[in-house]
Amino acid sequence: MNNTFLPFSKPTIDEATISSVADTLRSGWITSGPKVLEFEKRLSAYFGGRPVRTFNSGTCTMEIALRIAGIGPGDEVITTPISWVATASVILEVGATPVFADIDPLTRNIDLAKLEAAITARTKAVIPVYLAGKPLDMDRLYAIAAKHKLRVIEDAAQAIGSSWQGRPIGSFGDFVSFSFQANKNITTSEGGCLVMNNEAEALLAEKYRLQGVVRSGWDGIEVDVLGGKYNMTDIAAAIGLGQFAKLDEITAHRRKLAQHYFNLLGNDFEARTGAKLPPEDYENTNWHLFQIVLPGRIARAQFMEKMKEKHNIGIGFHYAPIHLFKLYRERGFSEGMFPVAEQVGKQIVSLPMFYAMNEKDVERVCSALVDVLG
Ligand SMILES: *Cc1c(COP(=O)(O)O)cnc(C)c1O
Repeated sequence: MNNTFLPFSKPTIDEATISSVADTLRSGWITSGPKVLEFEKRLSAYFGGRPVRTFNSGTCTMEIALRIAGIGPGDEVITTPISWVATASVILEVGATPVFADIDPLTRNIDLAKLEAAITARTKAVIPVYLAGKPLDMDRLYAIAAKHKLRVIEDAAQAIGSSWQGRPIGSFGDFVSFSFQANKNITTSEGGCLVMNNEAEALLAEKYRLQGVVRSGWDGIEVDVLGGKYNMTDIAAAIGLGQFAKLDEITAHRRKLAQHYFNLLGNDFEARTGAKLPPEDYENTNWHLFQIVLPGRIARAQFMEKMKEKHNIGIGFHYAPIHLFKLYRERGFSEGMFPVAEQVGKQIVSLPMFYAMNEKDVERVCSALVDVLG
C-alpha cells in the first residue's frame, strides 16, 4: 500500500497568503476592514462590475438573497434534492416551503423540464445548484424564470471559475451565491459572497449582514431591518485575496486533472465496470469535484473502505438526497418521490480532485479503481 494518504480534497495556501494573514494579524484591524473591501472590489471586477458583498458562509448568502427578494411564509421555492442540505434549509429558515424537482441522470443537476413542471401559482423563486461546478443550461434556466416571473438564487457554492458560453458564472443572472469553505476551489477557510443586481440590494445585504445597522456621519446610527451577524473578517479576506489571485491557474489545473482521469479511464470504463462518469467538459465546469456513480453491485461504504484500507485513498460523498433527511420527511417527503436523485444519491462518490494533486496521483486513483471495481 502507498503510505501517503491521498485525500479527496485539500486546500493549498501559499506562503505569500500566509504572510498577508500575518500582516493582517499584526495590523491591529482583524475584523471586517480594508481587506474585505479590497476582496469585494476584486470579486466585483471579475463579475463584470456587478455589486458583490462577502459574508462568513455560503449558506447565509442564500438566506439573505431570499430575504432581499422578500420570500417568506406561503411562498414556494424549487430546488434540487442532490445538494448540501443548506440549499434547502435556507428556504425553511425564511419560513418558505421547499419544493424539489428530480435531477438529470447525466449532469446530476436539477432537470429543467421537471423544475418547470413543479411551478405553481405560489412559486416565487428557484435555487439551482451547479453540482461539481457544472452549470445548467443557463439560457434555458433564465428563460423559464422570465416566463414565470421567478427570482433565481443561484447556489454557485461550487462554481467559482466556471462559465457559460465564455462568461463567468456570477457575471450575469439574478442573485449568485458562492462559498469559500475550506474544500471549495478557492477558500477563505469559511466564507462566501453574494453577487447582486443593484446598489439597493447591496445596501439591504449589508443590513442583513450586520444586525441591521446603518451608520452615518460621526455618530449617526439607525436600525430598520432585523439583521444577523454574518460579516467576513479581514483575516479571512486576506486568505481570499491570495487564493483569488490564483483562480485561473487553479481552474486550468483542475481541468487538466479531469482530462487525465478521462484519458486513463478510457472510453470503455463505463462498459467494463458499470460505473457512470461525469459529462466530459473543459469549457464550462471548474471541476470542483470529479464524481462517478458506482454500479449497483458494490455498496458505496464498501467501496470507500476498500479505497482507504487497500489504497490509502480518501473518497468523498456528495450528496445524500435532502428530501430523505428526517427534517424533510417530517414535512411530507418520502422515498420514491425523486427516483433519479435517490439512485444517484445512493451510489455517487467523489474521487480525489484538488489543486495540489498531480498526474501521478490521478494514475494512482485510476489503478485503485481498476482493482476495486474490477
Ligand atoms: C459548500 C456548499 C454550501 C454551503 O456553503 P458554506 O460556505 O459551507 O455555508 C451550499 N451549497 C453547496 C452546493 C455547497 O457545496
